[in-house]
Amino acid sequence: MSAIPAATVGRLVTYLRVLTELEQEGVRSASSDDLGAATRVSAFQVRKDLAYFGRFGTRGAGYTVATLRRELRRILGLTRPWHVAIVGMGRLGQALADYPAFDRQEFRLVAAFDVDPAVIGRRIGAVQVESLASLAEVAAERAIDLAFLTVPAAAAQGAVDALAAAGVRGILNFAPVVVTAPENVRVEAVDLSAGLQRLTYYVQAEPATVGEVTG
Ligand code: NAD
Repeated sequence: MSAIPAATVGRLVTYLRVLTELEQEGVRSASSDDLGAATRVSAFQVRKDLAYFGRFGTRGAGYTVATLRRELRRILGLTRPWHVAIVGMGRLGQALADYPAFDRQEFRLVAAFDVDPAVIGRRIGAVQVESLASLAEVAAERAIDLAFLTVPAAAAQGAVDALAAAGVRGILNFAPVVVTAPENVRVEAVDLSAGLQRLTYYVQAEPATVGEVTG
């Protein structure tokens, strides 16, 4: 499975969202063209992405929405609930703790950690903030699988090490720093500034062309 391109995994998430909307609208079947149009990729790309995981749909008849949706949920590991923690309960951590998506079945916010005594003990959203010192104990007790990392950049690597040692397998890192983690821990970075910088590349008055770089 390691040969699956990350871009394919990203598109599977989008296909799943589209299929969920189609199912809610009562649509029973969809073609690669439909899925491609809804996700802004070609029908060929849709078929190629799905082919990594087996055969879906029937030539000419397309896919049964409910079946493909179920299969994508299985492929993405969404058939069991995942226990999520937040490390760093400042502005961003508190906003995430209040985010209503955690009412859903697949992701359950089960803990929140900080090092600041001013925030430890406070209830925010569905969780009470606990001391980072209790991470290992709480992670084992509540089977924490995944974590949002919303600490200052300087604290990020230490927090990743502590999360990995506590058995957390996936980290969504919001801190603007590249961190390293053991092989069995997956780290995904979320960076809004990088998104803005990609935008400015495209919307600037005269996009840069290949030129000479000196220095
Ligand atoms: P903040 O200063 O409001 O909150 C940081 C919190 O982390 C504080 O409560 C602090 O006590 C806590 N903390 C510090 N060290 C810790 C540790 N070792 N373990 C646990 N908690 C610890 O900052 P913020 O505005 O919420 O931003 C949090 C992080 O997210 C920063 O790194 C910031 O640069 C980043 N950020 C990223 C994006 C993005 O697009 N990815 C957007 C906004 C902020």
